[in-house]
Amino acid sequence: MENVALLKCMEYDVDLVEKKLRQGFELLGGNDFLRKLIPKDSKVLLKPNMLSIENKESPVVTHYVVFEAVIRIIMEYSNDISFGDSPGFGDSRKAAERCGLMEVANRYGVKFEDFKQSVHVKLDNSILCKSWDIAKAAFEADVVISLPKLKTHAMAYYTGAVKNQFGCIPGTQKATWHTRMPDANNFCKMLLDLNTAVGTNFAILDGIIAMEGNGPKSGNPYKMNTLIMGKSLTAVDSTAVRLIGYDNPLDTPVLKEAYDSKWGVVLPGDINILGEKLESMKAKNFKLCRKGGNFYFINPKVTNFLRGMIAPNPTLIIDKCIGCGRCKEVCPEKPSAIDMVTQGHISNPKWNMNQCIRCFCCQELCPVGAIETKYSNLGKLLSKLDKR
Ligand code: SF4
Ligand code: SF4
Repeated sequence: MENVALLKCMEYDVDLVEKKLRQGFELLGGNDFLRKLIPKDSKVLLKPNMLSIENKESPVVTHYVVFEAVIRIIMEYSNDISFGDSPGFGDSRKAAERCGLMEVANRYGVKFEDFKQSVHVKLDNSILCKSWDIAKAAFEADVVISLPKLKTHAMAYYTGAVKNQFGCIPGTQKATWHTRMPDANNFCKMLLDLNTAVGTNFAILDGIIAMEGNGPKSGNPYKMNTLIMGKSLTAVDSTAVRLIGYDNPLDTPVLKEAYDSKWGVVLPGDINILGEKLESMKAKNFKLCRKGGNFYFINPKVTNFLRGMIAPNPTLIIDKCIGCGRCKEVCPEKPSAIDMVTQGHISNPKWNMNQCIRCFCCQELCPVGAIETKYSNLGKLLSKLDKR
Protein backbone atom coordinates (compact mmCIF):
# COMPACT_ATOMS: atom_id res chain seq x y z
CA MET A 1 0.00 0.00 0.00
CA GLU A 2 1.42 3.38 -1.02
CA ASN A 3 0.58 6.57 0.87
CA VAL A 4 -0.26 9.85 -0.80
CA ALA A 5 -1.37 13.03 0.95
CA LEU A 6 -4.32 14.85 -0.60
CA LEU A 7 -4.72 18.41 0.63
CA LYS A 8 -7.19 21.20 0.07
CA CYS A 9 -5.56 24.60 -0.41
CA MET A 10 -7.76 27.46 -1.49
CA GLU A 11 -5.20 30.01 -2.64
CA TYR A 12 -1.63 30.78 -3.53
CA ASP A 13 -0.73 32.31 -0.19
CA VAL A 14 2.76 31.22 0.79
CA ASP A 15 2.05 30.80 4.51
CA LEU A 16 -1.09 28.80 3.75
CA VAL A 17 0.62 26.57 1.17
CA GLU A 18 3.51 25.97 3.55
CA LYS A 19 1.08 25.03 6.32
CA LYS A 20 -0.71 22.59 4.00
CA LEU A 21 2.51 21.00 2.80
CA ARG A 22 3.69 20.61 6.39
CA GLN A 23 0.37 18.87 7.15
CA GLY A 24 1.01 16.63 4.16
CA PHE A 25 4.47 15.67 5.35
CA GLU A 26 3.04 15.08 8.81
CA LEU A 27 0.50 12.64 7.36
CA LEU A 28 3.25 10.84 5.49
CA GLY A 29 5.38 10.36 8.58
CA GLY A 30 6.57 13.77 9.74
CA ASN A 31 10.15 14.51 10.62
CA ASP A 32 11.28 10.86 10.36
CA PHE A 33 9.83 10.64 6.87
CA LEU A 34 11.59 13.81 5.78
CA ARG A 35 14.90 12.73 7.33
CA LYS A 36 14.73 9.49 5.39
CA LEU A 37 13.73 11.30 2.20
CA ILE A 38 16.54 13.83 2.55
CA PRO A 39 19.51 12.25 4.31
CA LYS A 40 22.01 14.60 5.96
CA ASP A 41 24.16 16.67 3.54
CA SER A 42 22.07 15.63 0.53
CA LYS A 43 22.15 17.64 -2.65
CA VAL A 44 18.48 18.32 -3.43
CA LEU A 45 17.16 19.27 -6.85
CA LEU A 46 13.69 20.76 -7.21
CA LYS A 47 12.19 20.11 -10.64
CA PRO A 48 9.28 22.47 -11.32
CA ASN A 49 7.34 22.50 -14.57
CA MET A 50 8.63 25.37 -16.72
CA LEU A 51 7.19 24.23 -20.03
CA SER A 52 7.74 27.57 -21.71
CA ILE A 53 8.40 31.22 -20.93
CA GLU A 54 5.31 32.21 -18.96
CA ASN A 55 4.20 35.02 -16.67
CA LYS A 56 3.92 34.58 -12.92
CA GLU A 57 0.26 33.62 -12.62
CA SER A 58 0.22 31.36 -15.69
CA PRO A 59 -1.44 27.97 -15.13
CA VAL A 60 1.11 26.45 -17.52
CA VAL A 61 3.93 26.41 -14.98
CA THR A 62 4.40 25.47 -11.33
CA HIS A 63 3.34 28.43 -9.22
CA TYR A 64 6.16 30.35 -7.55
CA VAL A 65 4.28 30.32 -4.23
CA VAL A 66 4.25 26.50 -4.14
CA PHE A 67 7.93 26.60 -5.03
CA GLU A 68 8.65 28.98 -2.16
CA ALA A 69 6.65 26.96 0.35
CA VAL A 70 8.54 23.80 -0.63
CA ILE A 71 11.88 25.57 -0.22
CA ARG A 72 10.94 26.80 3.27
CA ILE A 73 10.42 23.19 4.36
CA ILE A 74 13.26 21.50 2.48
CA MET A 75 15.86 24.03 3.68
CA GLU A 76 15.38 22.66 7.19
CA TYR A 77 16.84 19.38 5.89
CA SER A 78 19.41 20.48 3.32
CA ASN A 79 21.57 23.50 2.72
CA ASP A 80 22.37 22.43 -0.83
CA ILE A 81 19.21 23.04 -2.86
CA SER A 82 19.03 23.80 -6.56
CA PHE A 83 16.28 23.92 -9.15
CA GLY A 84 16.10 23.56 -12.88
CA ASP A 85 14.17 22.55 -15.97
CA SER A 86 14.60 22.61 -19.70
CA PRO A 87 11.58 24.20 -21.40
CA GLY A 88 10.26 22.78 -24.64
CA PHE A 89 11.01 26.07 -26.34
CA GLY A 90 13.09 29.04 -25.23
CA ASP A 91 15.78 29.71 -22.68
CA SER A 92 15.47 28.08 -19.25
CA ARG A 93 16.91 31.10 -17.39
CA LYS A 94 14.43 33.43 -19.03
CA ALA A 95 11.60 30.99 -18.22
CA ALA A 96 12.68 30.86 -14.55
CA GLU A 97 12.86 34.66 -14.36
CA ARG A 98 9.54 35.36 -16.05
CA CYS A 99 7.46 32.97 -13.93
CA GLY A 100 8.89 34.25 -10.65
CA LEU A 101 10.87 31.15 -9.62
CA MET A 102 14.24 32.85 -10.02
CA GLU A 103 13.34 35.71 -7.68
CA VAL A 104 12.18 33.24 -5.02
CA ALA A 105 15.30 31.09 -5.49
CA ASN A 106 17.61 34.10 -5.14
CA ARG A 107 15.90 35.14 -1.92
CA TYR A 108 16.53 31.71 -0.35
CA GLY A 109 19.97 31.04 -1.84
CA VAL A 110 18.69 28.23 -4.06
CA LYS A 111 20.94 27.69 -7.08
CA PHE A 112 19.64 27.71 -10.63
CA GLU A 113 20.61 24.89 -13.01
CA ASP A 114 19.99 25.58 -16.68
CA PHE A 115 20.01 21.86 -17.62
CA LYS A 116 22.21 22.57 -20.63
CA GLN A 117 25.00 20.21 -19.59
CA SER A 118 24.16 16.54 -19.93
CA VAL A 119 25.65 13.22 -18.92
CA HIS A 120 25.30 9.95 -20.76
CA VAL A 121 23.57 7.39 -18.58
CA LYS A 122 23.13 3.66 -19.16
CA LEU A 123 20.19 1.88 -17.64
CA ASP A 124 20.24 -1.91 -17.24
CA ASN A 125 16.91 -2.48 -15.51
CA SER A 126 14.84 -0.52 -18.01
CA ILE A 127 11.46 -1.27 -19.54
CA LEU A 128 12.53 -0.05 -22.96
CA CYS A 129 15.30 2.57 -23.13
CA LYS A 130 18.85 1.55 -22.35
CA SER A 131 20.77 4.80 -22.56
CA TRP A 132 20.17 8.47 -22.09
CA ASP A 133 21.56 11.95 -22.17
CA ILE A 134 20.16 13.53 -19.02
CA ALA A 135 20.69 16.96 -17.49
CA LYS A 136 23.80 16.57 -15.33
CA ALA A 137 22.29 18.48 -12.43
CA ALA A 138 19.29 16.15 -12.30
CA PHE A 139 21.33 12.99 -12.56
CA GLU A 140 23.89 14.06 -9.99
CA ALA A 141 21.43 15.27 -7.36
CA ASP A 142 21.04 12.97 -4.35
CA VAL A 143 17.35 13.77 -4.04
CA VAL A 144 15.06 14.87 -6.85
CA ILE A 145 11.77 16.41 -5.83
CA SER A 146 9.38 16.84 -8.72
CA LEU A 147 7.04 19.85 -8.57
CA PRO A 148 4.64 19.21 -11.44
CA LYS A 149 1.57 21.18 -12.45
CA LEU A 150 -1.74 19.34 -12.85
CA LYS A 151 -2.72 19.77 -16.52
CA THR A 152 -4.32 18.10 -19.47
CA HIS A 153 -2.02 16.94 -22.26
CA ALA A 154 -2.80 16.22 -25.91
CA MET A 155 -0.65 13.12 -26.25
CA ALA A 156 -0.53 11.79 -22.69
CA TYR A 157 -4.09 13.00 -21.82
CA TYR A 158 -2.73 14.27 -18.48
CA THR A 159 0.62 15.57 -17.31
CA GLY A 160 1.81 15.43 -13.73
CA ALA A 161 4.42 13.70 -11.62
CA VAL A 162 5.79 11.17 -14.14
CA LYS A 163 5.76 13.36 -17.24
CA ASN A 164 7.33 16.34 -15.48
CA GLN A 165 10.79 14.76 -15.68
CA PHE A 166 10.74 14.91 -19.51
CA GLY A 167 12.22 18.35 -18.84
CA CYS A 168 15.37 16.60 -17.55
CA ILE A 169 16.25 15.87 -21.15
CA PRO A 170 18.19 18.88 -22.33
CA GLY A 171 16.69 21.25 -24.92
CA THR A 172 16.26 19.98 -28.44
CA GLN A 173 17.10 16.38 -27.50
CA LYS A 174 13.49 16.14 -26.36
CA ALA A 175 12.42 16.30 -30.00
CA THR A 176 14.70 13.35 -30.81
CA TRP A 177 12.84 11.20 -28.29
CA HIS A 178 9.55 12.00 -29.99
CA THR A 179 10.98 10.75 -33.28
CA ARG A 180 12.52 7.68 -31.68
CA MET A 181 9.28 6.85 -29.83
CA PRO A 182 6.53 7.87 -32.25
CA ASP A 183 3.88 5.66 -30.66
CA ALA A 184 2.36 6.79 -27.38
CA ASN A 185 2.83 3.51 -25.50
CA ASN A 186 6.57 3.43 -26.11
CA PHE A 187 6.83 7.13 -25.37
CA CYS A 188 5.19 6.49 -22.00
CA LYS A 189 7.55 3.59 -21.28
CA MET A 190 10.38 5.97 -22.07
CA LEU A 191 9.02 8.44 -19.48
CA LEU A 192 9.00 5.71 -16.83
CA ASP A 193 12.56 4.67 -17.68
CA LEU A 194 13.59 8.30 -17.56
CA ASN A 195 12.32 8.56 -14.00
CA THR A 196 14.26 5.41 -13.09
CA ALA A 197 17.39 6.96 -14.58
CA VAL A 198 16.86 10.31 -12.85
CA GLY A 199 15.84 8.59 -9.61
CA THR A 200 12.94 10.90 -8.85
CA ASN A 201 12.31 10.59 -5.11
CA PHE A 202 9.17 12.56 -4.36
CA ALA A 203 6.44 14.62 -6.02
CA ILE A 204 4.38 17.58 -4.90
CA LEU A 205 1.68 18.26 -7.47
CA ASP A 206 0.44 21.83 -7.82
CA GLY A 207 -3.26 21.60 -8.60
CA ILE A 208 -4.40 24.70 -6.72
CA ILE A 209 -5.10 26.16 -10.14
CA ALA A 210 -4.92 23.33 -12.66
CA MET A 211 -5.37 23.39 -16.43
CA GLU A 212 -8.31 21.88 -18.33
CA GLY A 213 -9.06 21.68 -22.04
CA ASN A 214 -6.38 22.30 -24.64
CA GLY A 215 -3.39 21.59 -22.36
CA PRO A 216 -0.57 21.53 -21.57
CA LYS A 217 -0.10 25.13 -22.70
CA SER A 218 -3.28 26.51 -24.19
CA GLY A 219 -6.01 25.22 -21.91
CA ASN A 220 -8.02 27.13 -19.34
CA PRO A 221 -7.23 27.58 -15.66
CA TYR A 222 -9.38 25.44 -13.39
CA LYS A 223 -9.46 26.18 -9.66
CA MET A 224 -9.07 22.75 -8.10
CA ASN A 225 -7.66 23.86 -4.73
CA THR A 226 -5.60 20.70 -4.65
CA LEU A 227 -2.12 19.61 -3.61
CA ILE A 228 -1.04 15.96 -3.84
CA MET A 229 2.20 14.65 -2.34
CA GLY A 230 3.87 11.28 -2.31
CA LYS A 231 6.92 9.17 -2.92
CA SER A 232 5.26 7.17 -5.67
CA LEU A 233 4.94 9.30 -8.81
CA THR A 234 2.37 6.93 -10.26
CA ALA A 235 0.29 6.96 -7.06
CA VAL A 236 0.26 10.76 -7.12
CA ASP A 237 -0.78 10.74 -10.80
CA SER A 238 -3.32 8.00 -10.28
CA THR A 239 -4.98 10.09 -7.56
CA ALA A 240 -4.88 13.23 -9.71
CA VAL A 241 -6.48 11.64 -12.79
CA ARG A 242 -9.30 10.25 -10.67
CA LEU A 243 -9.96 13.77 -9.42
CA ILE A 244 -10.28 15.21 -12.92
CA GLY A 245 -12.58 12.55 -14.36
CA TYR A 246 -10.75 9.32 -15.21
CA ASP A 247 -12.54 6.85 -12.92
CA ASN A 248 -10.10 4.22 -14.11
CA PRO A 249 -6.50 5.51 -14.02
CA LEU A 250 -5.61 2.88 -16.63
CA ASP A 251 -7.49 5.01 -19.17
CA THR A 252 -4.50 7.34 -19.20
CA PRO A 253 -1.49 6.24 -21.27
CA VAL A 254 1.34 6.70 -18.75
CA LEU A 255 -0.49 4.89 -15.96
CA LYS A 256 -1.56 2.07 -18.27
CA GLU A 257 2.05 1.51 -19.30
CA ALA A 258 3.22 1.79 -15.70
CA TYR A 259 0.71 -0.83 -14.62
CA ASP A 260 1.57 -3.18 -17.50
CA SER A 261 5.28 -2.77 -16.79
CA LYS A 262 4.83 -3.16 -13.01
CA TRP A 263 6.43 0.26 -12.53
CA GLY A 264 5.15 1.90 -9.37
CA VAL A 265 1.75 1.73 -7.74
CA VAL A 266 -1.18 2.60 -9.97
CA LEU A 267 -4.43 0.95 -8.89
CA PRO A 268 -6.69 2.85 -6.46
CA GLY A 269 -6.93 -0.23 -4.22
CA ASP A 270 -3.17 -0.07 -3.65
CA ILE A 271 -3.13 3.61 -2.74
CA ASN A 272 -3.85 4.91 0.73
CA ILE A 273 -5.12 8.49 0.41
CA LEU A 274 -4.39 10.48 3.55
CA GLY A 275 -5.91 13.84 4.37
CA GLU A 276 -8.93 14.86 2.31
CA LYS A 277 -11.41 12.35 0.92
CA LEU A 278 -11.06 11.83 -2.82
CA GLU A 279 -14.81 12.06 -3.44
CA SER A 280 -15.03 15.49 -1.82
CA MET A 281 -12.16 16.85 -3.92
CA LYS A 282 -13.34 15.66 -7.36
CA ALA A 283 -13.46 18.39 -10.00
CA LYS A 284 -16.87 19.01 -11.58
CA ASN A 285 -17.17 19.20 -15.37
CA PHE A 286 -13.41 19.32 -15.81
CA LYS A 287 -12.73 19.47 -19.56
CA LEU A 288 -10.49 16.57 -20.41
CA CYS A 289 -8.16 16.88 -23.35
CA ARG A 290 -8.66 13.34 -24.55
CA LYS A 291 -10.43 10.34 -23.23
CA GLY A 292 -10.26 6.86 -24.62
CA GLY A 293 -8.88 3.44 -23.95
CA ASN A 294 -5.87 1.58 -25.18
CA PHE A 295 -7.35 1.75 -28.67
CA TYR A 296 -5.84 5.20 -29.01
CA PHE A 297 -2.31 4.08 -28.46
CA ILE A 298 -1.54 4.22 -32.12
CA ASN A 299 1.45 2.01 -32.69
CA PRO A 300 3.63 1.38 -35.73
CA LYS A 301 1.81 -1.83 -36.54
CA VAL A 302 -1.18 0.28 -37.48
CA THR A 303 -0.77 1.49 -41.03
CA ASN A 304 -0.52 5.18 -41.77
CA PHE A 305 -3.81 4.88 -43.57
CA LEU A 306 -5.66 3.57 -40.52
CA ARG A 307 -3.79 5.87 -38.22
CA GLY A 308 -4.93 8.82 -40.28
CA MET A 309 -8.51 7.66 -39.99
CA ILE A 310 -8.69 7.05 -36.26
CA ALA A 311 -6.04 9.12 -34.54
CA PRO A 312 -6.68 12.70 -33.49
CA ASN A 313 -5.00 15.31 -35.66
CA PRO A 314 -3.45 18.65 -34.85
CA THR A 315 -5.90 21.22 -36.19
CA LEU A 316 -5.49 24.95 -36.73
CA ILE A 317 -7.73 27.57 -35.12
CA ILE A 318 -7.05 29.99 -37.93
CA ASP A 319 -8.30 33.14 -36.20
CA LYS A 320 -5.72 32.71 -33.46
CA CYS A 321 -2.69 31.94 -35.65
CA ILE A 322 -0.11 34.74 -35.81
CA GLY A 323 2.03 33.00 -38.42
CA CYS A 324 5.16 32.78 -36.21
CA GLY A 325 6.23 29.39 -37.58
CA ARG A 326 7.15 27.94 -34.19
CA CYS A 327 5.01 24.85 -34.88
CA LYS A 328 7.17 24.03 -37.90
CA GLU A 329 10.32 24.77 -35.92
CA VAL A 330 9.49 22.39 -33.04
CA CYS A 331 8.15 19.53 -35.19
CA PRO A 332 10.61 16.66 -34.56
CA GLU A 333 9.99 15.02 -37.93
CA LYS A 334 12.64 15.45 -40.63
CA PRO A 335 11.49 16.81 -43.00
CA SER A 336 8.93 18.67 -40.88
CA ALA A 337 5.33 17.46 -41.08
CA ILE A 338 4.37 21.13 -41.36
CA ASP A 339 4.71 23.53 -44.27
CA MET A 340 4.04 27.21 -43.78
CA VAL A 341 1.68 28.36 -46.50
CA THR A 342 1.29 32.06 -47.21
CA GLN A 343 -2.23 33.34 -47.59
CA GLY A 344 -2.44 37.11 -48.05
CA HIS A 345 0.01 38.68 -45.61
CA ILE A 346 0.19 35.77 -43.14
CA SER A 347 1.66 32.29 -43.21
CA ASN A 348 -0.29 29.45 -41.65
CA PRO A 349 0.76 25.87 -41.00
CA LYS A 350 -0.40 23.08 -43.26
CA TRP A 351 0.07 19.53 -42.00
CA ASN A 352 1.26 16.52 -43.96
CA MET A 353 -0.63 13.89 -41.98
CA ASN A 354 1.26 10.99 -43.59
CA GLN A 355 4.41 12.39 -42.04
CA CYS A 356 2.89 13.41 -38.70
CA ILE A 357 3.57 11.10 -35.74
CA ARG A 358 0.97 12.82 -33.47
CA CYS A 359 3.47 13.86 -30.86
CA PHE A 360 1.56 17.17 -30.54
CA CYS A 361 4.71 19.21 -29.89
CA CYS A 362 3.25 21.79 -32.28
CA GLN A 363 0.05 21.99 -30.21
CA GLU A 364 2.01 22.03 -26.97
CA LEU A 365 4.30 24.87 -27.92
CA CYS A 366 2.19 27.18 -30.08
CA PRO A 367 2.53 30.51 -28.24
CA VAL A 368 -1.09 31.57 -28.77
CA GLY A 369 -3.00 28.30 -28.49
CA ALA A 370 -3.88 28.22 -32.18
CA ILE A 371 -3.63 24.42 -32.43
CA GLU A 372 -6.01 21.91 -30.95
CA THR A 373 -6.46 18.17 -31.38
CA LYS A 374 -9.46 16.84 -33.22
CA TYR A 375 -10.68 13.35 -33.95
CA SER A 376 -12.02 12.36 -37.34
CA ASN A 377 -15.68 11.29 -37.37
CA LEU A 378 -14.57 7.65 -37.37
CA GLY A 379 -12.20 8.35 -34.51
CA LYS A 380 -15.02 10.00 -32.55
CA LEU A 381 -17.31 7.04 -33.16
CA LEU A 382 -14.69 4.50 -32.11
CA SER A 383 -13.89 6.59 -29.06
CA LYS A 384 -17.51 6.21 -27.94
CA LEU A 385 -17.46 2.46 -28.62
CA ASP A 386 -14.16 1.99 -26.88
CA LYS A 387 -15.52 1.42 -23.38
CA ARG A 388 -13.49 -1.12 -21.54
S1 SF4 B 1 -0.15 27.69 -35.35
FE1 SF4 B 1 0.79 28.68 -33.60
S2 SF4 B 1 2.94 28.15 -33.74
FE2 SF4 B 1 2.04 27.74 -35.75
S3 SF4 B 1 2.34 29.60 -36.91
FE3 SF4 B 1 0.33 29.75 -36.00
S4 SF4 B 1 0.69 30.84 -34.09
FE4 SF4 B 1 2.68 30.13 -34.75
S1 SF4 C 1 3.05 18.14 -37.03
FE1 SF4 C 1 2.85 18.42 -34.82
S2 SF4 C 1 1.99 16.50 -34.10
FE2 SF4 C 1 2.75 16.13 -36.15
S3 SF4 C 1 4.83 15.35 -35.85
FE3 SF4 C 1 5.01 17.57 -36.13
S4 SF4 C 1 4.94 18.41 -34.08
FE4 SF4 C 1 4.23 16.31 -33.93
